[in-house]
Amino acid sequence: MTDVMTENASQTEAAVQKDGPSLTDFVTRAANGQAADGRRDLVGIPREELTELMADMGESKFRVKQLWNWIYNRGVKDIEEMTNISKKLRDRLSQEFYVGRPVLTADQKSTDDTHKWLMKFHDGNEAETVYIPDRNEDRGAVCISSQVGCTLTCKFCHTGTQLLVRNLTPGEIVSQFMIARDSYGEWPTPSNGIRRLSNIVMMGMGEPLFNYENVRDALRIAMDGEGISISRRRVTLSTSGVVPEIVRCGEELGVGLAISLHAPDDDLRNEIMPINKKYPLKELMNACRHYPGMSNSRPITMEYVMLKGINDKPEHARALAKLVKGVHCKFNLIPFNKWPGSDYECTPTNDIKKFAQILLDNGYEAPIRWPRGRDILAACGQLKSESQRLRKTRVSGCGKSGAGETSDESVVAAQ
Ligand code: SAH
Ligand code: SF4
Repeated sequence: MTDVMTENASQTEAAVQKDGPSLTDFVTRAANGQAADGRRDLVGIPREELTELMADMGESKFRVKQLWNWIYNRGVKDIEEMTNISKKLRDRLSQEFYVGRPVLTADQKSTDDTHKWLMKFHDGNEAETVYIPDRNEDRGAVCISSQVGCTLTCKFCHTGTQLLVRNLTPGEIVSQFMIARDSYGEWPTPSNGIRRLSNIVMMGMGEPLFNYENVRDALRIAMDGEGISISRRRVTLSTSGVVPEIVRCGEELGVGLAISLHAPDDDLRNEIMPINKKYPLKELMNACRHYPGMSNSRPITMEYVMLKGINDKPEHARALAKLVKGVHCKFNLIPFNKWPGSDYECTPTNDIKKFAQILLDNGYEAPIRWPRGRDILAACGQLKSESQRLRKTRVSGCGKSGAGETSDESVVAAQ
């Protein structure tokens, strides 16, 4: 992974240097959540660390509570607005910190109410965030990106073809949700029952478990009762199968787990998802079997993209049922979204239905995840081309996101 990152970064660095500061400057700054003037973004600083930073300034834990309340409960974007903190202290805080938000570079709403935001970070990199409202109820999931691009190269996924890859910081991850809240005016945090932005799914750009620590810190803030205050039951993380981090994620976060499975055997999975060579199915299924919280109330979601003639035959469905034996799970069948240059086609709807029926006959729920937000190009395979058209650059956008494919059923009702 490091090799890919270095190579990608240096290719892009050459391009960026022509116009100004080096990419390394940007990446370093962004990685620290630091503004050009050296001040630090308060958004994304873990509670324990902020407590230490406040102690260094001679301030008590109570200050942290106050700051968090202003930032994550009231949504203020300026330390000056924190009116129950003395002017003197606000001035001192402002010398060292600021409250950051990425710059919104696109904001689009679909006819089906799916909502997509493109946001730009310090270094000019962009990531997409998508809100998928439940069709029947006033709630929905915010689909968040964990990286710009992805170091993995799953054959059916456009994100893996992206040039530049970097991890998003905890602040950049949490602030995607905060931008969504700005947009829906959900400040201060509404009570649980009346939130439109009720759930989080880590299913945007990137492999969250290759950026585990930042994702963990961000989700801790999201799940903290004094932070964004989304209950753990309403958070789902999707991974291509980074086995060691699955274990950590279960132990440290205990959020809902989704696995991008996409093949019932190692031969096929090795071919379409290179990560399988490192963490083959046996290990992956083992990690799933031992995932904490994998109980009756919280099945693991097995995502399965339907690729015509590749992984969609009845024998594949039967093999899948065998493979997941002993794992409390359900399937989500995702019609493949074609993108320019991809070799695959989507399985015809009737065949997807037959596939689902076989899984159902074997005792596994297998809803089909119909695409959402196609008209605003929020669906798989559309995001990257849109960004390229907009920016005429190859450093932004998301090939698949998967965001627009996230059905109400799979990401909201199950939580
Ligand atoms: N990297 C993580 C998170 C991304 S989630 C992961 O792979 O799990 C997005 C989901 O969309 C994943 O299940 C991914 O496999 C799927 N996906 C990728 N490209 C797709 C495409 N072209 N059509 C449909 N689904 C796709
Ligand atoms: Fe990365 Fe997930 Fe796409 Fe694979 S499917 S390339 S892991 S974003």
